[in-house]
Amino acid sequence: MIKNTQAFILSYNEYKTSSIIASFLTNNSVIQAICYKAKKSSKAFGSDLESISKLDIDIYEKKQPQLSILKESSIIKNYTSLEKSIYSSLLVFYIREVLLYCARDFDERYFILMEKSLNALEELEKQESQKDNDSNDKIKKMYINILMRAFEMKTLHIAGISPHLDKCILCENNNASFYSIIEGGLICSKCKAIIKDAFEITEDDKNFMRIIKHTSLIDIVNSKDIINLYNNSIGTVKDIMNKSLFNHINRNIKSKKVLEEILFA
Ligand SMILES: [Zn+2]
Repeated sequence: MIKNTQAFILSYNEYKTSSIIASFLTNNSVIQAICYKAKKSSKAFGSDLESISKLDIDIYEKKQPQLSILKESSIIKNYTSLEKSIYSSLLVFYIREVLLYCARDFDERYFILMEKSLNALEELEKQESQKDNDSNDKIKKMYINILMRAFEMKTLHIAGISPHLDKCILCENNNASFYSIIEGGLICSKCKAIIKDAFEITEDDKNFMRIIKHTSLIDIVNSKDIINLYNNSIGTVKDIMNKSLFNHINRNIKSKKVLEEILFA
């Protein structure tokens, strides 16, 4: 049966001489499909698949482990400004790779998260293109770093393991200034005695995480508050998000290394 659906591409690899095997994120699954002659044909899928775009695809869906077959594709929205930006395009690669492993549990919120991430990056590119000074690049890198953390936070939320940031996760004590990755939230000084991985965090760290947990990605791009917390807290928050995500998907994300090398250079 041929199914028509909206999709974002998550990965593509060359297959034999002229075809591509691609993974598509649709609103309820990740579909692996073969795209025949994707590279040769002039009216090819090739360029659609290599762009950063929201696609409309017709796919002949087969039961796994058989590959589905891509029949048609067209671009609904092309994120040109992201393709032109090294930071944004590297973050998109990272987001795609994370979703490739996370989005398999058939939840439409991953599709929505992908779209919101692209829209937030587009907004960031728009804002930064209107400015014209040397600090421009530095601030953009900061927002890319924050968006990366916020994307991770929202991925954990959809997976059902969003950090608890209000009270001690064990005894509900309001006075909790430690964090446990394994428990997934704040820990008070009393409970710290039995939780081996708990480490101290600051009020700024908590507030940073609360902002990225509760604020939409597009509002984060427009938020000045979070920039005030950036220097004090980005290191700790990055560490917490990375370790929490690693515990969830049990693997390192290859594209993260390149992005972080460029981001923190
Ligand atoms: Zn406690």
